Amino acid sequence: MANKAYKFRLYPTPEQKSYLARCFGYSRFVYNHFLRLTTDAYAECKKHLRYGDTAKLLTLLKKDEQYSWLTKVNSQSLQQTLKDLESAFVRFFKKLGGFPVFKKKRNRQSFRVPQHWSISPDGKLKLPKMQPIKMVQHREIEGTPTSVTIIQTPTGKYYACILVEYDQKQAPLNGGKIGADLGLKEFLITGEGKKYPNPRFYRRALKRLKRLQRSLSRKVKGSTSRNKQRLLVAMAHEKVANQRLDMQHKLSLQLTCDNQVVAVEDLHIKGMVKNHKLAQAISDAAWGQFLTLLEYKGKLYGCEIRKLDRFFPSSKRCSKCGYIHENLTLDIREWVCLECGTHHDRDVNAATNILAFSNPQIRQELPESTPKEPVERQGYQGGYSLGLGSP
Ligand SMILES: [Zn+2]
Repeated sequence: MANKAYKFRLYPTPEQKSYLARCFGYSRFVYNHFLRLTTDAYAECKKHLRYGDTAKLLTLLKKDEQYSWLTKVNSQSLQQTLKDLESAFVRFFKKLGGFPVFKKKRNRQSFRVPQHWSISPDGKLKLPKMQPIKMVQHREIEGTPTSVTIIQTPTGKYYACILVEYDQKQAPLNGGKIGADLGLKEFLITGEGKKYPNPRFYRRALKRLKRLQRSLSRKVKGSTSRNKQRLLVAMAHEKVANQRLDMQHKLSLQLTCDNQVVAVEDLHIKGMVKNHKLAQAISDAAWGQFLTLLEYKGKLYGCEIRKLDRFFPSSKRCSKCGYIHENLTLDIREWVCLECGTHHDRDVNAATNILAFSNPQIRQELPESTPKEPVERQGYQGGYSLGLGSP
């Protein structure tokens, strides 16, 4: 069984909004309260509070008259918040994430409902302790729903994220194997010579973002106009993130649907350059998000994603004969192999090498896969277009 999530927009009424605000607020309170407690317990007596401990403390807290308001929302959602807090600490101790930080009111808000929720026949979302909320379900749910997370973005939009478990079917073989190199000028280059431009959404929006930000810093703190301006800034950032996500969804869908194997370099090997000028361009490209999407869709559509876990000179090596071009500097975009005379495009050659090196043993042992019947995939019509004009 595998998991996937559906995200649907919610349109709560004003009364529902105020109840949701309470749910977000209480969940935030519980998170922050127990984050402080867990940190203090560790600092003062080197004791690490686990979920079992915090859940007991939460029950005690609710009995305290001062905090009796906590009983007004779904108790399971508050317990889920404690589980999230524990996961945040586990991630921190495994060195997968930073130290958990306090949740702020102005950031994205969320709470999870693990049970006792449903979708009514007229498509509304029914949560415990409240009237059904209007929901736009733009696609059918496949699989068995487990939990739902309610989200409010900083721009005031509401979403339901529905997690489902589904039977993972192995898709029939219907595609090739490609290597892909991630870059800044071109977002992605395949070994077959296909190049997908890097749209640099953040850089395109930078002028507008700077203007909005400047205007924000001039407003008086706490004023209505400052709050309005902050919303405008958040909306501009949200637009950039949405554009990027949309482009990456389409590209990862195409790669996983058209291929049986996609080989990429791991980002650690890619060597995230600690160069101030490049840092912004790299974060604008959001390679990490792209690899996450690629792996997720790979599982969904039966495409193997191979991440290269070792360093090798992907650009310098001739993909035809193996000759290493030692003097290949970054500015050389095309070169001719001194050994075999092949004319190389730097990035295409690198992508070809990435595929060749992605899994040599398996590559030798397995027979070449033969394409069988093509698979039809939801939301994919073949082809790929960024739908962008020139910047
Ligand atoms: Zn060569």
